[in-house]
Amino acid sequence: MIKSTMQDVPLNISQLFRHGRTVHADSEILTFHGPDQELQVSTFAEVGDRADQLAAALAALGVGVGDRVGTFMWNNQGHMEAYLAVPCMGAVLHTLNIRLFPEQLSYVINHAEDKVIIVDASIAPLLAKVRDELTTVEHIIVAGEGDTTGLGETLDYEELLAAQSPGYDYPVVDELAAAAMCYTSGTTGNPKGVAYSQRSTYLHSLAVQTMQGVRVGEDDRILLIVPQFHANAWGMPYAAWATGCDLVMPQQFLQAGPLAHLIEKTRPTISGAVPTVLTDILHNAADADLSSLKHVLCGGSAVPRSLMEAYDETFGVTVVQAWGMTETSPLAAISRLPKHDVGDDEYAWRVRSGRVLAGVDLRICDEDGTVLPWDGQAQGEIEVRGPWITGSYYLDASDEKFHDGWLRTGDVGSVDAKGYIQISDRAKDVIKSGGEWISSVDLENTLMGHPSVLEAAVVGIPDDRWDERPLACIVLADGKTATPEELTEYLTDKVAKWWLPERWTFIDEVPKTSVGKFSKKDLRASYTDGDLTVTTVG
Ligand code: ADP
Repeated sequence: MIKSTMQDVPLNISQLFRHGRTVHADSEILTFHGPDQELQVSTFAEVGDRADQLAAALAALGVGVGDRVGTFMWNNQGHMEAYLAVPCMGAVLHTLNIRLFPEQLSYVINHAEDKVIIVDASIAPLLAKVRDELTTVEHIIVAGEGDTTGLGETLDYEELLAAQSPGYDYPVVDELAAAAMCYTSGTTGNPKGVAYSQRSTYLHSLAVQTMQGVRVGEDDRILLIVPQFHANAWGMPYAAWATGCDLVMPQQFLQAGPLAHLIEKTRPTISGAVPTVLTDILHNAADADLSSLKHVLCGGSAVPRSLMEAYDETFGVTVVQAWGMTETSPLAAISRLPKHDVGDDEYAWRVRSGRVLAGVDLRICDEDGTVLPWDGQAQGEIEVRGPWITGSYYLDASDEKFHDGWLRTGDVGSVDAKGYIQISDRAKDVIKSGGEWISSVDLENTLMGHPSVLEAAVVGIPDDRWDERPLACIVLADGKTATPEELTEYLTDKVAKWWLPERWTFIDEVPKTSVGKFSKKDLRASYTDGDLTVTTVG
């Protein structure tokens, strides 16, 4: 080997921090406090100084290299200050999902051994519920005004900052040291922790910025709808900081009305959200002016074609589908159009789950672990490898989730020759009927194309003859009607005949997970408990 002449500089988030606060000192973080309140606007230079003060305050409380600092916060300026201060001082930022059940919340805080938690006062009562269970937390810092009963002794965020000066001396840390942690939402068993390194976060931020990624630049403004606790808000905060892209933070105002108001007022160019949020805006704020948006990243679950078409037609806004998971930092694939052979139907590309990004190796394997071809046909479990893909879970063996150094994603699908993946299901949601797979994702997306259907979730239920058959759970749009027979008729020329569900149920709402995805686990449980009224046809 010939040794290179390059400098051995560790990839540290503090480098991105330094760059943003100086080169893009005038870029802004805008925090929404509700339609009748003034926007809180601060420049990167100001936020950088406050992050310094936060780092100094945390150090004064005894937070050192490697200590975990939890955040229990909305998307806002304070949360961004923690994103900068905590990893750059060498501590580990643990973003807590504010929608976890109490027992899961106390589990993840104790498992990560958080030493300090920063909490937004408006949600302090949720943290107070588990305060007595927390075994490692030494200090709770409260940001803003609110009811802190039950939290015991607390510290005030602004008072702590006021006691410190800007100019924190950030250390250079090992690029492989943990910088941040996220736990998966734990649909089965306890949540599992992923510890991102300085290096993985740095590299992922660069990938997010690229034209094949989220296309973030200084002349952009991101409306950050996806929570900062959901897989690092898909890497957008650091990508924005590093490029000088403004960030608009909606806090708890995540309903269609306030979001539409915020978009009209701040004119963001990019946003990112799970499909349920985009569906809500479409159905409840269709007259909003979203024309400032160049594109909206959508993922976390499959994005129906009908949703993309409706955004194009109603708002003139392009919805771009992405695929990833907490374990992949999360961005691993994004469905940008190919250069050649697009054909007449752009949507045929856009409905793909994503096209693998440079930096991520991807393959599909069958049940025996044999690697399958990228032919767009073969279906197998997707496995990924790369510098921002987790190689293990935090203090949790889970060897079955890895295969020869590759992460087994638990997603089943195909890949075509150009590297576009199409997820047909999560392995645990696959419907196996007479030995063959039915894609619940395909059925759902097709059903959601029917004008009367607001939401459709399809789950596998036991069947004496075929082992499993699909149960279609339908939420009708306001004022609309449809019978199982009509919906079956609608599906007939769009999916294989043997996929057609015999069992149908009409429900008021599909239960959602803590990050707003359809909760099929809850639907299956409702079915087993006999809580659903099922009609059988055909
Ligand atoms: P949780 O496991 O709590 O849902 P994650 O956000 O980490 O949290 O979920 C990752 C999973 O979301 C992926 O493994 C995949 O099943 C699903 N997913 C993400 N993006 C897409 C997409 N574009 N299409 C289909 N499924 C997706």
